[in-house]
Amino acid sequence: MHDPAAQGTDFFKCDFCRRPWREDRPMVEGHRGSLICADCLTAAHLEIVNEKRPGHSPPEHGACTMCLERRDDPHWQSPLFESAFICRRCIRQSAQTLAKDPDSGWTRPGAAATADRIEDDPDPDDD
Ligand SMILES: [Zn+2]
Ligand SMILES: [Zn+2]
Repeated sequence: MHDPAAQGTDFFKCDFCRRPWREDRPMVEGHRGSLICADCLTAAHLEIVNEKRPGHSPPEHGACTMCLERRDDPHWQSPLFESAFICRRCIRQSAQTLAKDPDSGWTRPGAAATADRIEDDPDPDDD
């Protein structure tokens, strides 16, 4: 979300935890300025994609916060802000976007533990 009352990078806030953008908290943007940060995306990915949990469905007139569509996919609901949902498709797309961004340093949770590797160039790990 874009917080018009905030200044600088505080302007960009994750819709799911409402923390502002920071260098070490990369975010992926959805429709109409909705944002999910790397931490929330990790939690969503683990629950819905890795563990294949059924998740939650948005309420009758709700929709995915990221794509603004109503889908039958499982959704991850923010534990902090119960009106924030992200559908499985958006989790997957956001994960791809963030994993491809060399500045994010983010990798999909469990990616190394499964045979589901779609990256063909291994990330140089300089830890
Ligand atoms: Zn967040
Ligand atoms: Zn969505």
